[in-house]
Amino acid sequence: MQETSRIRRSAALRARFGAVFGSGPGVALASAPGRVNLIGEHTDYNDGFVLPTPIDRRIEVAARRRADEQVVIHSVDFDETVRFEVGAVEERDSARPGWSDYPRAVLWALGARGVPLTGLEMAVAGDVPLGAGLSSSAALEVATALALQTLWGFELDGPAMACLCRRAENDYVGVRCGIMDQFVARMGREGHALLLDCRSLEHRQVPLALGRHCLLVCNSRVKHSLVDSAYNERRRQCEKGVEALKALDPTLRALRDVAPAGALLETARPQMGEVVYRRCRHVVSENARVSASVVALERGDLVTFGALMNASHDSLRDDYEVSCPEIDLLVDLARALPGTLGARITGGGFGGSTVNLMSEEAAQGFVEGVVVPFEREVGHRPEFLVLRLTSGRRQC
Ligand code: ADP
Ligand code: MG
Repeated sequence: MQETSRIRRSAALRARFGAVFGSGPGVALASAPGRVNLIGEHTDYNDGFVLPTPIDRRIEVAARRRADEQVVIHSVDFDETVRFEVGAVEERDSARPGWSDYPRAVLWALGARGVPLTGLEMAVAGDVPLGAGLSSSAALEVATALALQTLWGFELDGPAMACLCRRAENDYVGVRCGIMDQFVARMGREGHALLLDCRSLEHRQVPLALGRHCLLVCNSRVKHSLVDSAYNERRRQCEKGVEALKALDPTLRALRDVAPAGALLETARPQMGEVVYRRCRHVVSENARVSASVVALERGDLVTFGALMNASHDSLRDDYEVSCPEIDLLVDLARALPGTLGARITGGGFGGSTVNLMSEEAAQGFVEGVVVPFEREVGHRPEFLVLRLTSGRRQC
């Protein structure tokens, strides 16, 4: 079923590519998925652990060399085409459409790594919801890099490609994201979550045997303007916490080095002050919850995993203070459905999406039990998606 829809999507993109650029041989096709982070929130920039899984929504890219030095990129979904000289890849065109920054950023990063760039034509299309916390941007970057790798044949292994795409988003697009999104878009495996150590980039595939349960993502369609300033503030607070901890243990480099059951955090509490202490307590306990989740999932113990998801949300709400009333409402309504094992905020916070682990029957009741009461209280309808788990990269 998944395979059929994938083939249909690839055929549609190939046909569109032919309609825009003319048919003919030499077209490289690749795709990469969106993702949802199951647990491990605000741990990435503290050198910690995350546990995302790729989802059955993908961005596809078709690319072919051109004889001249032009780069021409067509977006099927925006129905727009951009064009620039390959030698001008690092320049910024203020009139460009925003979506074109992502493939252009990947070209820029490849060029900066010494890959010889040629003129090319490219078409991109996908069904990862934009800006819903499912990381359509990383899927677009990784799909672009994979298509270009097929076309040009440069050497770049999976982790290196993920790092290159992150660099493209950080340094060209200008978004300060961590490594998780690009890493899982490239390295994720069907039916698995990916345990990623954001310090060493060590990773491990963790089977997701969900049986008669499913993962459901619900987009609140709420975005509070606090996101950027609060994100920077949280980062600063974590740094302050590390400074206080270093005074007690100079070998410590990041919050990830704090043992969850140890006394260090409590000892440093008076120096840190209450707010910084609570921020640190979230990060330290969240890393421990990621490890415990891996153990639970490897045992097939969804009840324990669900409880860890709940604890993660409560910690993000109370200690890290990055939730908001609308998200808490979504979580509380979902938890009240019989058959929900866990519900939590996913992503940066102050709006965005929740991820829910629930029985198939509970998911059937999601509209009545969550969507309708949310709309009554907040005034608009949230969107939701029952996830099918899929794999990362695909080169065709
Ligand atoms: P997220 O990654 O959480 O979905 P971002 O704001 O980081 O949200 O990235 C969304 C942007 O990625 C879109 O605004 C668009 O510029 C680009 N993008 C995503 N999907 C597509 C697509 N199918 N076609 C073209 N551009 C896309
Ligand atoms: Mg993004």
